[in-house]
Amino acid sequence: LSVGGLVVMTAFIRSGETARLRDPSLTIPQMVWTITSGAVAYVLAGDARGLVLSVLAMILFFGTFGLTMAEVIGIGVYALLAFASAIGVSSRFNANASGYLDIAYALMVLIVLSGCIALNLRIQRIRAKLQQQREALAQALEVNRELATRDELTGLINRRAMLDLMALEHSRSLRSGRPLLLAQLDIDHFKPINDQHGHATGDRALQAFAGTVRASVRDTDVLARWGGEEFVLMLTDTSADHARELLERIRQAVQALEIAHSAGSLQLTVSIGLAQHLPGDTVEHTLERADQALYHAKALGRNRVVVAPATHRP
Ligand code: GH3
Ligand code: MG
Ligand code: MG
Repeated sequence: LSVGGLVVMTAFIRSGETARLRDPSLTIPQMVWTITSGAVAYVLAGDARGLVLSVLAMILFFGTFGLTMAEVIGIGVYALLAFASAIGVSSRFNANASGYLDIAYALMVLIVLSGCIALNLRIQRIRAKLQQQREALAQALEVNRELATRDELTGLINRRAMLDLMALEHSRSLRSGRPLLLAQLDIDHFKPINDQHGHATGDRALQAFAGTVRASVRDTDVLARWGGEEFVLMLTDTSADHARELLERIRQAVQALEIAHSAGSLQLTVSIGLAQHLPGDTVEHTLERADQALYHAKALGRNRVVVAPATHRP
């Protein structure tokens, strides 16, 4: 009967859902059923009853892997009660009953139970540690991802992440026909700010600039720190005229900024080159056109927005 219980238990595991196949534990009712059949087998087996205990050990060791500690203790108490009753019944009604042997068997049940609980405690600790390590790893990966894609000073995405987003937006605009515009923004005469007021003031100016531009655009528009005091803005779903107006407003907002320093405050201006992406062109060429427009803005006296002419790649 006990071996039959074990066979049925194995069949349960093998026919179980995929989740159970990965975790070779039993459900509580399956455990109760196999322990009960083991206890009944102990009574029926007569002189061979000692053999049943090895089956009990197998059930407890392998069946409790996926159970919680409380469940293991519950199953342990049930197994103790079931086998204590079986030993009691067997020593009472078995003609060849030997008191010493039954005490030895009862001790054996106790040893198996405590071994099982100790083993499970250890498994639970290893599991908790693994879980902790998994969480720490996930956190470290997230921090790494942030470091790889964000600019620490301004909190904007960096050039690398922006290139990825541009490629993504480019293929989207190809499919949907939505306009895609790229603007290059470069703060005017930024080097003298560092030279005259120190690098820390320069850093604060960059942060204030990034915050002002970010606040002027929609959530769907993307602003990236391209490098140094240069930024790239990607506008989607906006016409060239609207984009030009928006950039003009940004230019004015930047001009109105007051950056405090030890001896008062300073102002910034920005030059901007805007290019509309042309169908069939590459994003790189559109960026190049925006850069040329920026160069013209600088050459024309800075603090202005220049729109790139619609010229295709040669
Ligand atoms: P232009 O109007 O022609 O753009 O002149 P510019 O002075 O702005 O341009 P230039 O390229 O000569 O100088 C850019 C300066 O930006 C030089 C560099 O020290 C400064 N810079 C770059 N990155 C940072 C940064 O993270 N923090 C600070 N404080 N300064 C930076
Ligand atoms: Mg500059
Ligand atoms: Mg520059």
